[in-house]
Amino acid sequence: METNPCNTPVKGGSSIPSKTSRKAKQEDTIVDVNGVRIGGSAVVIIAGPCAVESRDQLFETARSVCKNGASVLRGGAYKPRSSPYDFQGLGEEGLKLLSAIRSETGLPVVTEVMDTRQMELVASYADMIQIGSRNMQNYPLLKEAGMCGKPVLLKRGMMATIKEFLYAAEYILAQGNDQVVLCERGIRTFETSTRNTLDLSAVPMLKSLTHLPVIVDPSHGTGIRWMVPAMAKAAVAVGADGLIMEVHYHPDEALCDGHQSLSLSEFEKLIGELNRIALAVDRKIA
Ligand code: PEP
Ligand code: MN
Repeated sequence: METNPCNTPVKGGSSIPSKTSRKAKQEDTIVDVNGVRIGGSAVVIIAGPCAVESRDQLFETARSVCKNGASVLRGGAYKPRSSPYDFQGLGEEGLKLLSAIRSETGLPVVTEVMDTRQMELVASYADMIQIGSRNMQNYPLLKEAGMCGKPVLLKRGMMATIKEFLYAAEYILAQGNDQVVLCERGIRTFETSTRNTLDLSAVPMLKSLTHLPVIVDPSHGTGIRWMVPAMAKAAVAVGADGLIMEVHYHPDEALCDGHQSLSLSEFEKLIGELNRIALAVDRKIA
């Protein structure tokens, strides 16, 4: 058994951090993203492009996903790219476009922050702050997210265990912000046929260990457009509280992650199928 009073002992002698633990709080936490509730009985769909590229691209994509069942709009203004020569995002111009389309559609906006120096600016535009996989263990950034006054979407590090993931969330909760949604987005394994290995077993495991909502990203989880619908449906079946998916009006021309982005019509078709899966597990799509 652990002796550290900050830790909650769990089976096998390991431990999970105290504020995120189910033991500390039995009832599910509902995260309120400008009126959209994540963690209740309805499954929330977050959709939009990987990156904000232009007014046309964002607005056309956002209008379509809004009409077809998305409750929250995603879109990166600051992009963590493997190559420094790839499109890095539109920065504040992207944030302004997100804010403008929010006014038109009413969809709250989630967008990534990569650096503590960006937090104030991004939080002034966004309804929810995203901490990406590459920054899951950026502790100064996690602390800043805990103080930013907005809900946080925390993505699992690509090499992170569930325990490390929960400790990352604990950094945010420890600053007094309990509005945290956890996102399983695939982990690195020996498998190379998919971009990542989407660890759907993390969903029931996290739901048992923590009161925080858990969503799934089948876009980064597979890296393959045609696999996204199957894994999205599987995620709802295993109890995910929501999905975050990349959608683009012309996926083959996308500046970022087009190969894993659904077209507008593919997204519309998928939502119909997800409704049926949600009903089978006594839920509905928000
Ligand atoms: C993203 O959602 O745009 C993203 C970069 O995802 P991840 O941090 O999971 O790679
Ligand atoms: Mn992406």
